[in-house]
Amino acid sequence: MTDRIESRVAAVRERISRAAARAGRDPASVTLLAVTKGQPIEAARAAFSAGVLDLGENRAAELAVRAPTLPEARWHMVGRLQTNKVRFLPSRLAAIHSVDRRSLVERLASRYQGVPAPVVYIEVNVAGEETKGGARWAEVETLLPSLIEAGFPVSGLMTVAPAVVDAESVRPFFRELAVLARTVGLDELSMGMSDDFEVAVEEGSTLVRIGRAIFGRDHPG
Ligand SMILES: *Cc1c(COP(=O)(O)O)cnc(C)c1O
Repeated sequence: MTDRIESRVAAVRERISRAAARAGRDPASVTLLAVTKGQPIEAARAAFSAGVLDLGENRAAELAVRAPTLPEARWHMVGRLQTNKVRFLPSRLAAIHSVDRRSLVERLASRYQGVPAPVVYIEVNVAGEETKGGARWAEVETLLPSLIEAGFPVSGLMTVAPAVVDAESVRPFFRELAVLARTVGLDELSMGMSDDFEVAVEEGSTLVRIGRAIFGRDHPG
């Protein structure tokens, strides 16, 4: 397992480099985050040993269990955050990628009172998909100042692109997110997953969240 993960990490890094080169970008400006959901902790360790220092989970309770078992890693919350699950978030957390509504801000502020606050990304639902989380364009402008006022370092914007057969068709969504980030003065873009990360990097992603391309296509969760 460890060897396979190591070679997949190398392959993903190579693809990031090539996509960055196509866009005239420095590959070092793109952080590779491994999403370990549904994987055994050994798989997370293997990715970390292969040099992936940023690891993510999509559930607060799972993150709370995992983060302390691999405290050397920088752990990220990438999944949709329910208000009543905020209390499960570990106190030592590198970043939250899924802040998408005002009601979360107060909960997060009390959760991280007196401890270093994680960096946050505002999740944006660029495609306007009903079933998905993420703020709408107009909400970002009110969410951003409320996060700043609550003391959170706001790093950038995040999106989960619609699942499509051809990655090329989500390019406009990534481009839109980049435009919105520039409009509100944010630098970081958490965008790109296994099926679309090269397009995301071409459009300016600074952090790609990769699960299946590192851990295999058939993970349970
Ligand atoms: C699972 C997940 C990913 C990784 O998805 P893959 O398609 O397996 O690369 C990225 N972001 C979020 C929010 C996820 O839940």
